[in-house]
Amino acid sequence: MSKEIIAVDIDEVLFPFIDEFIKDHDARFGTSLDKNHFDTYEFSAPLGLDVPTTIERVYAFQKRIDSKISEPFEESKEAVAKLSKHYELAVVTARHPQFEDMTIEWLREHYKSSFVSITHIGFAPIMEKPITKAAVCLELGAIALIDDSIDHILQCSKSDIEGVLFGNYPWNQTNALPPNVTRCTSWLEVLEHFELQA
Ligand SMILES: [Mg+2]
Repeated sequence: MSKEIIAVDIDEVLFPFIDEFIKDHDARFGTSLDKNHFDTYEFSAPLGLDVPTTIERVYAFQKRIDSKISEPFEESKEAVAKLSKHYELAVVTARHPQFEDMTIEWLREHYKSSFVSITHIGFAPIMEKPITKAAVCLELGAIALIDDSIDHILQCSKSDIEGVLFGNYPWNQTNALPPNVTRCTSWLEVLEHFELQA
């Protein structure tokens, strides 16, 4: 029997993007950014910059995410390896496709061959035809999405794809979640959720 498929996000699920971005930005531009001000995953308001300048800075940072120096969430490595024994894991990311090669290299360095594919959905302000993670999950036949974004998770939930809302972040707070969505604040909880031992 073939394995069921789970879709997995990268940023804030495998990689602490905002933490690393803030460190880098503060060092380069003399800012003292506060993670709590990132109450949505749009960066231009907390940075106080227009959208094109914000995208420029985020992309410049993204180009510096090196497989040797940019570490994922430590506990994600073992958890992903464990999960991949029971499920087929497919990466679904909003990172721009121009970062695909370095993203694949980064995933290989840290997760070996745990992920079978990667799909870039694109990001609305810069992609001509962005697609939703729900559409990608339906196409992949994924049973669940692990993601820190409430929007992506709720879109999947409406398409009867189970949601694992990852982390307890300023940008993913909400009063109520649909019955097919579970918040997991760590990879240990993700393993428990899928009834795998940590
Ligand atoms: Mg994310």
